[in-house]
Amino acid sequence: MKIFNTMTRKKEEFVPLEPGKVKMYVCGPTVYNYFHIGNARPFVVFDTLRRYFEHRGYEVTFVQNFTDIDDKMIRRANEEGITVKELADRFIAAYFEDAKLLGVRPATVHPRATEHIPEIIALIERLEKNGLAYPVANGDVYFDVQKYRSHYGKLSGQNLDDLESGARIEVDDIKHDPMDFALWKGQKTGEPAWKSPWGMGRPGWHIECSAMSMKYLGETFDIHGGGQDLIFPHHENEIAQSEGATCKPFARYWMHNGFLNIDNQKMSKSLGNFFTVRDIREKYDLEAVRMFLLSAQYRSPLNFSQEQIAQAKAALDRMYTARDNFDFLEEGAQERALNAEETQLVADAKACVEKFDAAMDDDLNTADAIGAIFELIKHANVALKPGCAKDAVDAVIAAFKEMTGVLGLVKPKEEEKNAEVDALVEARAQARKEKNWKESDRIRDQLKEMGYIVEDTAQGQKVRKA
Ligand code: AMP
Ligand code: ZN
Repeated sequence: MKIFNTMTRKKEEFVPLEPGKVKMYVCGPTVYNYFHIGNARPFVVFDTLRRYFEHRGYEVTFVQNFTDIDDKMIRRANEEGITVKELADRFIAAYFEDAKLLGVRPATVHPRATEHIPEIIALIERLEKNGLAYPVANGDVYFDVQKYRSHYGKLSGQNLDDLESGARIEVDDIKHDPMDFALWKGQKTGEPAWKSPWGMGRPGWHIECSAMSMKYLGETFDIHGGGQDLIFPHHENEIAQSEGATCKPFARYWMHNGFLNIDNQKMSKSLGNFFTVRDIREKYDLEAVRMFLLSAQYRSPLNFSQEQIAQAKAALDRMYTARDNFDFLEEGAQERALNAEETQLVADAKACVEKFDAAMDDDLNTADAIGAIFELIKHANVALKPGCAKDAVDAVIAAFKEMTGVLGLVKPKEEEKNAEVDALVEARAQARKEKNWKESDRIRDQLKEMGYIVEDTAQGQKVRKA
């Protein structure tokens, strides 16, 4: 598989550090709000990358963090009169709910910054020992870019002279160099803080990702990802901190997704031009949003509009129609030898999967991969008829499931039914709470028709298959 490596600005063959294993880290959300569709892009893209590696037989360790302490978290918690921890808990729960509806599986580990303070402190101490960090009087600790000057800027392709000449110098700056960045921030009144060798304080943003990625993946690991906006300064600083501490290469491949734009401007919380995934959830099944996000190769910019989501929904509906049609044909299929048309179809199905894999192997080109699925559907719609050979329809179903599964699209029928049953049971519980017995009975009858029996027990509703 070829991956575009931001570090070398080239597509490179992916060779993992350890054969058969992939270790990847992706910068996750700051949990002070519901995430927007722009944030959803890296979540969906890297979930798909992980699925593809697994499909290829790799064992994947996937780490995606939660930034649960920073200025925005503190401000929002203060506004709401709750603790930063309460705020984080609320939006982490919301993350998992929305992510699930987007078909984004939980990562292997979702570390939180505030739960890794000892690791963060240990890393800063290592940097201090290497002469790359210095504390100042107010309790802050900074990374000393001058001491690292020959390496700084390699990911973003900038050198320190250019960066410094463009930087604003504050008169009362306590830093040695305008490009120095905080590893640790001394406590200000009313802020949450942890004990450290430099006094009470909290970690800077960049250091958490260095500390947590190396804790779970080792000092050198395979892939580090995130949105393009993170290349500088976040990822540049992660490299400086990690390599400055370990003297070993940090991530081997750097992957960055392009922006999700709205009217050709990056969707962002600060610009206020965003739609949260929660907003969209009211109107569209989030699987359509996943389809939309995968409709472009991950490095290309992608423009958001309601029409685009509607189009993605229509494309997804065509996939579901195809799935139902294949299932229907499967039920009436015959155990017999293939005719010439069916023999060709089986070969075409195989060719579509090869095309799919080739597209995914080419730096995760999900746009072309989706094209291969529709090509399969087209072939099948022509060649499969009621009474077709079972082996032919089975080959089509297997190819279809394999490809849609990698993209995390098109739920299997059983799962779809379970979700429907869960929703009905929940609606019935609500009706009973409101003493709406008529509605409660109606839902019970509907479930019965679907093949499920509901009993009302002291513990609530008990559901079993009829
Ligand atoms: P944040 O919560 O702002 O730290 O962002 C979480 C992730 O979303 C990071 O990987 C960002 O790079 C990514 N991201 C933020 N905005 C966009 C956007 N408009 N398009 C694509 N990725 C984005
Ligand atoms: Zn990060």
